[in-house]
Amino acid sequence: MTTTESEIVAMPSLGSQWTRIRARLQAEVGEVEYRTWLRQMALAGLDGDEITVTLPTRFLRDWVSTRYGDRLRAMWQQENPSVRRVDIRVGEAPVEPAAPAERAVIPQAVRETIRDSSRETIRDASVPVRPVAAVSGWPDDRSESRSDLAAPLDPRFTFEGFVVGKPNEFAYACARRVADHPSSPGFNPLFLYGGVGLGKTHLMHAIAWELTDQSTTPVSVAYMSAEKFMYRFIAAIRSQSTMEFKESLRSVDVLMIDDLQFLIGKDNTQEEFFHTFNYLVEQGKQIVVSADKSPSDLNGLEHRLRTRLGCGMVADLHSTTYELRLSILEAKAARAGVAVPGKVLEFLAHKITSNVRELEGALNRLVAHSNLFSRPVTLDTTHEVLHDILKAHDRRVTIEEIQKKVAEHYSIRLTDMSSARRARAVARPRQVAMYLAKQLTSRSLPEIGRKFGNRDHTTVMHAVSRVTELMERDGTFAEDVELLRRLLES
Ligand code: ADP
Ligand code: MG
Repeated sequence: MTTTESEIVAMPSLGSQWTRIRARLQAEVGEVEYRTWLRQMALAGLDGDEITVTLPTRFLRDWVSTRYGDRLRAMWQQENPSVRRVDIRVGEAPVEPAAPAERAVIPQAVRETIRDSSRETIRDASVPVRPVAAVSGWPDDRSESRSDLAAPLDPRFTFEGFVVGKPNEFAYACARRVADHPSSPGFNPLFLYGGVGLGKTHLMHAIAWELTDQSTTPVSVAYMSAEKFMYRFIAAIRSQSTMEFKESLRSVDVLMIDDLQFLIGKDNTQEEFFHTFNYLVEQGKQIVVSADKSPSDLNGLEHRLRTRLGCGMVADLHSTTYELRLSILEAKAARAGVAVPGKVLEFLAHKITSNVRELEGALNRLVAHSNLFSRPVTLDTTHEVLHDILKAHDRRVTIEEIQKKVAEHYSIRLTDMSSARRARAVARPRQVAMYLAKQLTSRSLPEIGRKFGNRDHTTVMHAVSRVTELMERDGTFAEDVELLRRLLES
């Protein structure tokens, strides 16, 4: 069957149906799962009653078909009754840049509504109401009539599930303190900041869980993203219920606003937040806010608001260290109940340094693959399954990096890479480094020799053949070199 002209004409609405489906899926399955499995899904088109969706690898395709196939079909049928089947295939990623998922779900019309809100023109009845609800992250339309303000909390985001290390111990301690004794002097507001995927949302949910679980004195906690705060505010203006909105906000014991940087440039919403903030603090209620920068660096946020935000406790989440990444992986692998070899965890902790979310996504995928195909996780399967993720983290490797990594691995001094010492404990690692330099860089043998204490190119040649030979004979040695190669690989 070929695509008819009328269907081509209908494409834009197909696009917005797809946008809504993705937003709903994201709300249903949660951020991590969505990013791991579904983010790369692309709409290929509608042919008769069949929708085609593509994913970049066979593995992702299989996984999404088994796990989400039925759900996808049901959602499509709800959106578009003419759809009967959903075909999930392996195919190219869409031409459009892979925008962050949050952004991808905001249609143009809504962006305009948002911009208009700061000029107070959204009472205009011609602006449709639905899209705003669609981007608010609620799973369905019932949310519009929900009276409670709090967004759902992720059951995995608890203090118990949070791995503490040097980079986050201060933020963790502050969060715990607020959960144990809300509104203590010096900790109100609590302002958590740090880069993407470092655990801000996790800590906020953990505080909320802790507070709501303390059954002795029920505490009303409202957690929501700044984005949602804004949509709610806009919706309240539109339905002329701003008083109710204000009152419900002001009746909580603890207010948590996530990703406050979203309010930059949204002057009216900022103003509203500022008043609510002041009111609650005056009443001795706890406020917890997160953002990607410290209060003083949040340029574009009103000065008086920044000042107030910095008045309590400001705690930052630093970038992760190798040790923290490894502990997080160990904890998550143990929780998933799948035996993941230490070498694989070390490899991932070395390789995926961007943030915990990506690290977690990679591990989830490995575990799922192992369960699905009943295959143990090995370095090989890791490479196969995480091909796309690893490629994104690839970079050019230098001889200096190789020397450093190999020296670290064998616990020898970096200077021994170029020293004249011939003891086996030093000479062998040096040969391994030469071998890897030949394998992983485009340097010539004489160039490599020069970097290793001005050695002759024949020495490098000898090292390469010696290591190759040893790798064939000795499995453990081969695995070691292989691990090093993968760690360094570009
Ligand atoms: P942020 O809000 O800072 O962007 P999140 O709180 O959403 O980051 O964290 C991203 C993912 O990483 C979540 O799944 C979270 O559980 C996980 N994560 C982050 N830091 C830790 C940690 N220290 N221990 C366990 N999981 C973590
Ligand atoms: Mg977050």
